[in-house]
Amino acid sequence: HEFDIIKFSEELVEEMQLITKDNQIVIYQHTGVENIVNLDQNLLRNCLMNLISNAIKYSGEDTLIEFCTEINKEYYQMTVKDNGIGIPEDDQAGLFQPFFRAHNIGNIPGTGLGLNIVLRYVNLMNGKIDFNSGPGNGTQFTLSFNRK
Ligand code: ATP
Ligand code: MG
Repeated sequence: HEFDIIKFSEELVEEMQLITKDNQIVIYQHTGVENIVNLDQNLLRNCLMNLISNAIKYSGEDTLIEFCTEINKEYYQMTVKDNGIGIPEDDQAGLFQPFFRAHNIGNIPGTGLGLNIVLRYVNLMNGKIDFNSGPGNGTQFTLSFNRK
């Protein structure tokens, strides 16, 4: 399960760039230590594809999406940040529940399962997921993993 997370991130962003609505996905990588991590690459890819496709889906055309990978000795983390519609505070508590959808989505289609799956996968990887969001401020999701 060992792979280079910097190379993995670059390839993933390149792939996701193809399905944007003219959004630009900008990638930042901060590293100074070992880039090789020990994780289930397929689970991680699935999580990040869910987060990036949400960022695309819940943002306007031409808006910026930032993808950041940060690696240090104790942990590594990946952040997906958009400038989209945000998640109303009242809706945030239910976010990871199956079939949950916030009330500001208008007619954007979806099943409300993506984030529940992401949470399950993150738990399987012994990671942590955090978010920060507000209408008008966009949304940021962060996946963090301790180095063993
Ligand atoms: P799908 O199952 O196809 O992913 P979905 O996108 O509606 O459908 P989730 O990915 O689980 O389901 O997201 C749940 C809800 O959280 C969304 O319906 C939306 O209200 C909100 N949400 C998730 N990501 C974002 C985001 N980046 N910006 C704004 N709202 C979001
Ligand atoms: Mg989704």
